[in-house]
Amino acid sequence: MERWQNKVAVVTGASAGIGAAIAADLVKNGFVVVALARREERLQENRRKLPENLQSRYHPRRCDVSNEDEVKDTFAWIETNLGGTDVLVNNAGIGAIGVELSASDNTQVIRNVVETNIMGVVYCVREAFNSMKKRNFDGHIVIINSVAGHYVPIVPFGSVNIYPASKFAVTAMVETYRQEFANAGTKVKVTSVSPGGVLTEIMPNMEAYRDAGNPLLDAEDISNGVLYVLSTPPHVQVHELTIRPIGEK
Ligand code: NDP
Repeated sequence: MERWQNKVAVVTGASAGIGAAIAADLVKNGFVVVALARREERLQENRRKLPENLQSRYHPRRCDVSNEDEVKDTFAWIETNLGGTDVLVNNAGIGAIGVELSASDNTQVIRNVVETNIMGVVYCVREAFNSMKKRNFDGHIVIINSVAGHYVPIVPFGSVNIYPASKFAVTAMVETYRQEFANAGTKVKVTSVSPGGVLTEIMPNMEAYRDAGNPLLDAEDISNGVLYVLSTPPHVQVHELTIRPIGEK
């Protein structure tokens, strides 16, 4: 789309699943994309899968979103080399299925989820918003949340542990950001996109789960939702978009 030509979008967790689909679709729609993840070789692989004429618009970079210094360095690189951030899609996230929240050996699992799903958002949104401030307070921050950010799902494969709590935090943070951005007199939008089940690598055996007749979305279904929220006119802010497969229980 013409309006997105050369706008800079940062996508976290772009090496796999939903983030990989979003990064590819944003490039195909005119964005210059900075694709972040810990596995740089997977990002390079995703770049090679793009049509050759679009590959130069895709910038793969290693960044662990739970590491504040790495996030700062990454956004500073974007500022210097690409002029700043127009769109942030904060997608990186991990699950914690299997271990029980009440288990005594659970501290490290909880820490990892909190540091990725909550602190990762804090670090990335802060840097993106600072960049948007410098550019006349324009921009859009999309945060991939979950239906588990709105209720605690009962899953057939054991406890969901701290995961819903981390996404409930995201739900509250999106509203807090909305208020702060509005109070600061900005035009920066913030949107929560909450998927139901999506076939990705977030849990083992997801293909078998779908083969057993459980409905799951494809990563592209979420990417289409992100393109929709980004395409709304300047005065419209989609606050929450929930996308679920038909028949999900
Ligand atoms: P995947 O496991 O397929 O992909 C997760 C991505 O996040 C990978 O690219 C991974 O890259 C990246 N990531 C994880 N930790 C970090 C980190 N510390 N720093 C940088 N990148 C990181 O999962 P999904 O695509 O399913 O998940 C994407 C988002 O969607 C998550 O926020 C998840 O909570 C949400 N979601 C998913 C649902 C589903 O059913 N699949 C349902 C609802 C929400 P790398 O390992 O290379 O760093």
